[in-house]
Amino acid sequence: MYDMIIIGSGPAGLAAAIYGQRAKLSLLVIEKLPMSGGQVANTYEVDNYPGLPGIGGYELGEKFRGHAGALGAAVVCEEVRSVCLSGDEKQVITDKETYTARTVVAATGAWHRRLGVPGEEELRGMGVSYCATCDGAFFRGKDVAVIGGGDTALEDALFLARNCRKVYLVHRRDALRGARTLQEKVLASEKIEVLWDTVVERIEGEGQVEALLLQNKKTQEAGRLLVSGVFAAIGMQPDSELFKGQVEMDENGYIRAGEDCATSVEGVFAAGDVRTKPLRQIVTAAADGANAVTSAERYLSGRGIG
Ligand code: NAP
Repeated sequence: MYDMIIIGSGPAGLAAAIYGQRAKLSLLVIEKLPMSGGQVANTYEVDNYPGLPGIGGYELGEKFRGHAGALGAAVVCEEVRSVCLSGDEKQVITDKETYTARTVVAATGAWHRRLGVPGEEELRGMGVSYCATCDGAFFRGKDVAVIGGGDTALEDALFLARNCRKVYLVHRRDALRGARTLQEKVLASEKIEVLWDTVVERIEGEGQVEALLLQNKKTQEAGRLLVSGVFAAIGMQPDSELFKGQVEMDENGYIRAGEDCATSVEGVFAAGDVRTKPLRQIVTAAADGANAVTSAERYLSGRGIG
């Protein structure tokens, strides 16, 4: 039996692994994909992680992983199918094994929210994308649309503008939500055109995105925008399905936990984007990993372990 099983290998999970190794806990990190860093791995450039200005997201993910590995953290690439979190012996059941641990850290992060419009599912991977840094290269010299007005949408629009012919930023309101510095860059870009107060009604195309049917929410005017790609950047959904019915969550599915990362179940901790928190950033996810381990150590020593 492990002292700790960490589910997820983003900044939260790997920071927990680093702190856990240093605390001499026997631990296992379970990651779904053979790529560490979580969402960070799909970020083109990270410019707000202290000490590493402008580092590539993939490289930062690798650094986190390398650090945990150098301290001896064991990482397996398996898909967790279910968990049983009650009692002193927690069970984590993957597609390959059943593991037991005294504590579990849920560091499963969050995934991209869907637009929920006709054509989205059918044309996914055929012009519909949720990751500009992963798929942007396919649209070199083409016209594309980015949906959303937050940091992700603004970063995506700027990233795509480097190689695409034209980028339409389709936003449902008349004010952007993202950081002021990004807003200034977007509005100054000659390649980016912002379509304000506009929503996507339908994505059209035969085997590849060809057009978006749009509606202006103020004038009710409908329009057809010819694009080869559409990048939805409308926020995140927590990856918390595994824990449903076992730990308390808020109305959006985020696991309820404070800064100590303690959930409603003893010995279970939530770290990173999957937890209720005001700011979801790499640096706050990493901080959660540290807090989760400190809380877990306290929990274990209260039971006479460690
Ligand atoms: P976000 O801040 O939640 O923004 C989502 C955007 O999508 C909002 O503009 C929202 O419109 C719009 N939206 C939501 N649902 C929609 C729908 N159904 N149809 C059309 N538009 C919709 O999400 P995010 O940009 O992914 O950022 C998430 C978090 O990560 C934030 O805390 C952000 O600061 C952080 N982040 C930071 C960086 C960085 O610092 N480099 C980069 C990326 C993300 P409204 O504005 O009308 O609500």
